[in-house]
Amino acid sequence: MQILLMGPPGAGKGTQAEFLTDAYKIPHISTGDMFRKAQADGTALGLEAKRYMEAGDLVPDEVTIGIVRERLAEADCKKGFLLDGFPRTVAQAEALKGILSDLNMQLDAALNIDVAEEELIKRLTGRRICKTCGATYHTVFNPPQKADVCDKDGGPLYQRKDDTVETAKNRLSVYTGQTQPLIDYYQKEGVLVAINGQQDVSAVTADIKKALEVCR
Ligand SMILES: [Zn+2]
Repeated sequence: MQILLMGPPGAGKGTQAEFLTDAYKIPHISTGDMFRKAQADGTALGLEAKRYMEAGDLVPDEVTIGIVRERLAEADCKKGFLLDGFPRTVAQAEALKGILSDLNMQLDAALNIDVAEEELIKRLTGRRICKTCGATYHTVFNPPQKADVCDKDGGPLYQRKDDTVETAKNRLSVYTGQTQPLIDYYQKEGVLVAINGQQDVSAVTADIKKALEVCR
């Protein structure tokens, strides 16, 4: 199973990634992990990426793509993989297509977890933290027994500055601007699978499972 997983911040991508890697026994390949591993292994590309990052520069596409190529060629990807965070651009998606074709592979599905903006904002701004003990709550997913009061010590709960509606809106608009061209690209490639992320976590998982059975 060769899967790409996309979804905005707050869509529950992490949870679904965990389910997918478990269910299909495939490695979770996130960009961050891939970079860290290439650097730890001391590969030429890993060291090159490190130089850029230490200088505070963006890692150029050809380096990133080279690292992806090395990672996907490893033995644990023979049975498939879950790509997360790559590609970010259509150019990278084209490069990925070339890499997979060189390896006699192809993407089975580009999953896109869909959640309406209003709901995402609710999820992204719901975090509350206790001023006294630092315990975290969420107004929707993990609410305290009494609103704005810590269950453990009765301390007052507050919202972090970067959990505001404005910051959430900014994050989402950056994400959409970056990702929409990719969604269009995979739609044209015929592998896009839209998943309704606006339901219980287990219902989202069930939908993904069902969709992937058709792709196999
Ligand atoms: Zn507390």
